Amino acid sequence: MPDTKTRKPVRISRTGMPAGVDLLHDPSLNKGTGFTEEERDALALRGLLPPRVHTQDEQVARTMGNFRLKDTDLGKYVHMIALQDRNETLFYRVILDHLEEMMPIIYTPTVGKACQEYGHIFRRPRGLFITKRDRGRMTNVLRNWSYVDVRIIVVTDGERILGLGDLGADGMGIPVGKLSLYTACAGVHPSQCLPITLDVGTNNESLLEDPLYIGIKEKRMRGQEYDDFIDEFVHAVREVFPHALVQMEDFGNTNAFRLLDKYREKMCTFNDDIQGTGAVALAGIYSALRITRGKLTDQTVLFQGAGEAAVGIANITTSAMVAEGLPENEARGRQWFVDSKGLVVKSRTDLADHKLPYAHDHEPVADFLAAVEALKPTAIIGVSGQPATFTQPVIEAVSRLNERPIVFSLSNPTSKSECTAEEAYTWSKGKAIFASGSPFDPVTLDGKTYVPGQGNNAYIFPGVGLGAIACEVRRVTDEMFFVASKTLANLVSEDDLAKGRVYPSLTMIREVSAAIATAVAEVACARDLAGKARPADLEEHVRSQMYVPDYESYV
Ligand code: NAD
Repeated sequence: MPDTKTRKPVRISRTGMPAGVDLLHDPSLNKGTGFTEEERDALALRGLLPPRVHTQDEQVARTMGNFRLKDTDLGKYVHMIALQDRNETLFYRVILDHLEEMMPIIYTPTVGKACQEYGHIFRRPRGLFITKRDRGRMTNVLRNWSYVDVRIIVVTDGERILGLGDLGADGMGIPVGKLSLYTACAGVHPSQCLPITLDVGTNNESLLEDPLYIGIKEKRMRGQEYDDFIDEFVHAVREVFPHALVQMEDFGNTNAFRLLDKYREKMCTFNDDIQGTGAVALAGIYSALRITRGKLTDQTVLFQGAGEAAVGIANITTSAMVAEGLPENEARGRQWFVDSKGLVVKSRTDLADHKLPYAHDHEPVADFLAAVEALKPTAIIGVSGQPATFTQPVIEAVSRLNERPIVFSLSNPTSKSECTAEEAYTWSKGKAIFASGSPFDPVTLDGKTYVPGQGNNAYIFPGVGLGAIACEVRRVTDEMFFVASKTLANLVSEDDLAKGRVYPSLTMIREVSAAIATAVAEVACARDLAGKARPADLEEHVRSQMYVPDYESYV
């Protein structure tokens, strides 16, 4: 039995705050050496901390010093998660102050590595795990969460983590990371965020054999059993957290499309891999057109890959072309997919449902290079998770066909990218307007420096979520993603474009999120999808909701 007799009961201060050691062990309240002299007296902290009171800036400097001493990115990730477990306010302050350095650590590409190693680097649980043992009692499991006013849930079943495949319950790193971005990038309060992993098993043999795997060691649940499980989850969420937006993340592609179709009209939900990716890529295309001075309706887009990302981008690009006057069938006809079997064409009999709207009349074409030659695309977008598929002949061909080809190599993590920034710029002789899913360093070619944009979904989803919270949106619509896309593209400066960069600097992310949230809330109000009356000054209302990670006084 643990020694419950000699341990002091939890200390509570006069104001109802935890006090003493319990306060130091509460990451949402802890300030570490940042507690002031007055707080140390009032909250029974005397003697429990080193005497010197440090400013938050000094604590940031200490954190960054140690962060930079870590010699691997995974080591840096573990360092940051440990900080999140100790002192949440400082964690978000560090991220905000060093966003460009932090983003590749707390999110892609390092989060991918972290998920692959999750069972091995695991220290403390974060978020909720729901398994088939919880059938019939999911509402109780949700009620175990420590906060009652949850506004954003990011949920995965771990079947398709980034481009890394089935990582089962080890995929929890993704909802945790995405919600950190909601707070860092858009100021959604940490207590309003809930990461959830639906552990429905895994078909990943090496995880099933790994003694340190954290999930249930069973094959994936499928069919009616899976659908019933998800249905109970959805109902439980609506009962326990009725104001929560549910972001679906990294589901395998058959389930992702089905679940989005099934629930999008019934609850406040979206799929970031489909809709968020669509919006961020379209914003990149809009920015690229500011460089080429081309028209969206004149573009032909060829995708390498035909999954969630490809369909999401093709859907929103089609809508945007229609909005600019092209008939829908012509707009769809401008989007072409190549999958593992070649060009997606009407005569094929092996196509999954989500590919059918983009299966056009054309003779079969076996590979991507041949498809480039046959279709003469103005843009090629890599979303297949297959590295090195934008080969030198492919880049040379699009550069021969276009003055300034759009080349987006979006597969994550870096190891899966269709080509590197250096390859795109070198092989195209500086003509390519390049963006990638994971970050690449600037490239200097013949004395000119090109800055690759990162088509990071973090430009879009935090703002969409903040807008949804601000107006208690009942449904998330495609129009909201479309306005998010336009808003983002309009925030790219002429200076960025001159360097070939099609997304704004990440240092502007809070401004970007506030602008997107305002635009999304505006759509919600105009379409009667807001749960509350439109505030007189919408932008001011949105900004007033944004959490800033400064220490509050507790005395
Ligand atoms: P998905 O599993 O739904 O789709 C992958 C597609 O690639 C499938 O259609 C598959 O048939 C196709 N494919 C497989 N092998 C191929 C080959 N050899 N040639 C052509 N096609 C092939 O996955 P997804 O959600 O569409 O994501 C795909 C990739 O895009 C991932 O690497 C993911 O990380 C990346 N992604 C990037 C961003 C971003 O940069 N913002 C956003 C979303 C997804």
